[in-house]
Amino acid sequence: MSDDCLFCKIARGEIPSKKIYEDEHVFAFHDINPQAPVHALVIPKRHIATLDDLTEADRELAGHLLERTTHVARELGLGQNGYRTMINTRSHGGQEVYHIHVHILGGRPIGRMVCT
Ligand code: 5GP
Ligand code: ZN
Repeated sequence: MSDDCLFCKIARGEIPSKKIYEDEHVFAFHDINPQAPVHALVIPKRHIATLDDLTEADRELAGHLLERTTHVARELGLGQNGYRTMINTRSHGGQEVYHIHVHILGGRPIGRMVCT
């Protein structure tokens, strides 16, 4: 947990969010600035800054985070047509919030990946 981390505060309910799903280890909510008709974020409740900070000790949590991401996507009605998942890592990856989050984008064809 990090006192001044935005997503830690969201996971703790200290900053309001549109919650989609929560269990002991993960929290899912709608992105404040959606880039698609459905744009959700799935985070571990424990503060881990970037994907690159995962260690062997986090294997179970990382697996749970991904599995629950598929659950959240189905809950959002994206199971049939599919969706894009994305994890941005540090500056060249386009990461703005330094607490691991999986983006779920869907509700329309997202198109082929373009790296600009
Ligand atoms: P990143 O660029 O780090 O991969 O993605 C950060 C995401 O967090 C962005 O899509 C941004 O819109 C979203 N975001 C930033 N601040 C907030 C907030 O206070 N609430 C919510 N729900 N989403 C946020
Ligand atoms: Zn955090």
